[in-house]
Amino acid sequence: MKAGLLTAIREVALGEMPDPKPGPGDVLVAVRSVGVCGSDLHYYLRGCIGSQVVEEFPFVLGHEAAGEVVAVGPDVRKLRPGDRVAVEPGIPCGECEPCVTGRYNLCRAVRFLGTPPVHGAYCEYLAVPERYAHPLPPELSYDEGAMIEPLAIGLFASDLAAIQPGYSVAILGAGSIGLVTLMSALAAGAGPVFVSEPLDARREAAKRLGATQVLNPRTDPVVDAILDATDGRGVDVVFEAAGSVEAHQQMVEVVRPAGTIVPIGSCAEELVPLPLASFRRKGVEVRFVRRFCHTYPRAIGLAQSGKANLSALVTHRFPLEDLAGAFRLLEDYSDGVIKPV
Ligand SMILES: [Zn+2]
Ligand SMILES: [Zn+2]
Repeated sequence: MKAGLLTAIREVALGEMPDPKPGPGDVLVAVRSVGVCGSDLHYYLRGCIGSQVVEEFPFVLGHEAAGEVVAVGPDVRKLRPGDRVAVEPGIPCGECEPCVTGRYNLCRAVRFLGTPPVHGAYCEYLAVPERYAHPLPPELSYDEGAMIEPLAIGLFASDLAAIQPGYSVAILGAGSIGLVTLMSALAAGAGPVFVSEPLDARREAAKRLGATQVLNPRTDPVVDAILDATDGRGVDVVFEAAGSVEAHQQMVEVVRPAGTIVPIGSCAEELVPLPLASFRRKGVEVRFVRRFCHTYPRAIGLAQSGKANLSALVTHRFPLEDLAGAFRLLEDYSDGVIKPV
């Protein structure tokens, strides 16, 4: 089959990979749409994210996928050829302590699409266990189906923050993860919601999706603006979705005493200096987000109901042959890009 291959750092080419065969319990999915994610960009630019390193080229990236079931292996119970599905990209081992205690997102033996050494979804076909191929309702396009993956993360982040109706929220960064977190927080009843983001198109998207106030960290005093708007109190919950050192340092400044801080973004830097004394004095709670856990079906329901408008994320489309173009666009943050597929 054809696949978009990372052949070296910053080099992507169309090539061939062996056709996957569905084993017992697997469905064969013809890939129709795949998002290009910030984490794919990390691998493209550096060949690694922290300790996860691409050891062998060529490597296939991509983990935000939707497609059509074209064949089923033995013992598949519900799905049939022709069914449309969103692919949950992490297959946990099912046996380690995190798995058996219901926190499969922390499985140490997870096989996650597009994360070394497991090849990803920039290709024609994927063999996926039936359980991780979630049926897509007819209201949702394949592009929206691919965006279920980031939405599952936003929902999980919002769950971890235990948002209550009327909670004030700050979201630092409005890339696709910031925007799906915005959708999830609003659906949970949050408000007001402040969003800080340097790129114009992303601030505008946040505003359209229902942010109460959008701020530009390059020109606006983000911390003062949020404190002013909350009478000096700070917000109940702050999400970090920029993956920047600056945003990580702002988290504790904008949260209220005993508020909740939820870092989602991954920093390129391994060590991020944080004012821990402020964390302690404010008595804040910090909950880190590692991917998602049990939120795929709810993400599909939220998108189907219209409460999460996933088509707002997809700004550009590329054929598999021009995967390099998608990476270049995302690398430059040009042309108002939010999410290329
Ligand atoms: Zn992603
Ligand atoms: Zn496990």
